Amino acid sequence: QQQIAIEYIDSVYNELQESHAHEPEFLQAVKEIIYSLTPVFAQRPEYMKASLLERIVEPERVVKFRVSWEDDTGKVQVNRGYRVQYSSAIGPYKGGLRFHPSVNESIIKFLGFEQIFKNSLTGQPIGGAKGGSDFDPKGKSDSEIMRFCQAFMTELHKYIGPHEDVPAGDIGVGAREIGFLFGQYNRIKAAYLPGVITGKLPRFGGSLGRKEATGYGTVYFVQEMLQEINETFEGQTVVVSGSGNVSTYAMEKAQQLGAKVVACSDSNGYIYDPTGIKLDTVKEIKEGRGGRIKEYVDVHPEATFTEGCENIWTIPCDIALPCATQNEISEDAAKLLVANGVKAVGEGANMPNTLEAINVYFSNNVLFAPAKAANAGGVAVSALEMAQNSMRLFWTFEEVDEKLHEIMKNIYRNSREAAKEFGHENNLLIGANIAGFLKVADAMIAQGVI
Ligand code: GLU
Repeated sequence: QQQIAIEYIDSVYNELQESHAHEPEFLQAVKEIIYSLTPVFAQRPEYMKASLLERIVEPERVVKFRVSWEDDTGKVQVNRGYRVQYSSAIGPYKGGLRFHPSVNESIIKFLGFEQIFKNSLTGQPIGGAKGGSDFDPKGKSDSEIMRFCQAFMTELHKYIGPHEDVPAGDIGVGAREIGFLFGQYNRIKAAYLPGVITGKLPRFGGSLGRKEATGYGTVYFVQEMLQEINETFEGQTVVVSGSGNVSTYAMEKAQQLGAKVVACSDSNGYIYDPTGIKLDTVKEIKEGRGGRIKEYVDVHPEATFTEGCENIWTIPCDIALPCATQNEISEDAAKLLVANGVKAVGEGANMPNTLEAINVYFSNNVLFAPAKAANAGGVAVSALEMAQNSMRLFWTFEEVDEKLHEIMKNIYRNSREAAKEFGHENNLLIGANIAGFLKVADAMIAQGVI
C-alpha cells in the first residue's frame, strides 16, 4: 500500500513539476505537503480513487487583474493584482493580501495552498485563499497607498464578500491598508459590511488581539512544544527575524514568558542587542513612524546593526523564530543554528525554511514547529473577528487571547496525535499536514465531486 501511495504522489508531483516549472515556490510548498500525506493515502485508497490530490493542488479559481493608479506626480502607474481562491470545501475562502515587489503567481499560489491546511487546522470553518500585488509600499506617501488600495479593491470587490471570500493583511498590508480597502468596498456596495475583510481596527469592526495574534500564537505553540522536553521560554536566548506584526508580538510574548530576545531585522539588515531588545523602541520606530530597524542603534548604542538579513542566523540562540519571509533560512544557515546549539525553531512566517533546512533540524533532533500550525493564530483570530462581526458583538482582549491560546493548544495536540496515529511520532510537520488535510478531504468526499 505504501508503495502504491508513493507512486500515486510521485505521478501527481511529476505532472505538476512539468506543467509548473516556472513556479518554484509553489512546487516547494506542494512537495512538502503532499509527500507527508503518504501514510494517509496508504491507509485510505478511496482517497486516490477520488483523485483528492489532483483536485486539491488545483486552485478552484485564479483571478489576475490590472491595477492602475495615479502617483503623487500625476503619472499613472500599473501593477498586477491577484486573488487565488484555492479551496472552499470547509468554508468561505480566507487568507491575506500581500503587497510586495516579489509577488507573482507562484508566491500567491504557494501561500494559498498552505492556507488551506492552516485554516483547517484552526478548527474554524474557513477555506483557503491568498492574494496581493507586486506593488511596493516602501517609500509611497499615504495618499498613494490610499489610491492604490482603492484601485485594487475596485477590481477585487467583484470576487469577494462576507460569505464568499474574506481577505486580510499579510506582508505590506496592515491596519492602514485594510482601512482603505474596507472603505472602498463599502463605498462600492453602498453598505456597511464588516464581515468582508479582517484585520480592521477595533474601533470599526476589528477584533482586539488580532494585531498580536500571529506572534503570540507562534510563541504559544512553541511553548507547548518545549513542554515535551521539560523546558519553557524562561531564561532562553531567542532570535526573531523581521520587525513587522508577527515578529513584534512574537518578541513581546517571548519576553513576557521570561525569554531574552537579542535580535530582530528588517529587509536592510539586523540589530543585535546583547542586553535584550527594548520592544518599546522597536514599536516606536516601526509602528510609530514606519522607520528602519537600524535606527534602533541611535537610541541604544549598546546594540549593533549589521547589513544583510541572512546573517542574523549566525547569532547563537536557544530558540529561533523566523518571522520575516519565505526561504529566509537556507540549509547552511540551519546548520549554523544547529552548530550553535539551537533547541527549537518555530516558523512565524510562511515557509521561512527551505526543505533542506528542515531536514537539518530533523536529523539533529531540533524541535521544529511548522508554519501552518505555528502561525495559524493570525487567521484563527481573523475567524474570531468574523464571528464577532456576524454577532454584532465585541469581545475583550482577554477573551480573544484566551480563545487564541486554546486554539494553539488544540492545533498542537491535533498535530501531535495525527503524527502518532500515522506512524511519525514527534514529527509535527507531518502531523500538521495530515490533521489539516483530513478535514478538507472528508469535506470534499462528503460534498461530492465539485
Ligand atoms: N496573512 C495571514 C496568514 O498568513 C493571515 C490571514 C488572515 O487573517 O486571513 O495566515
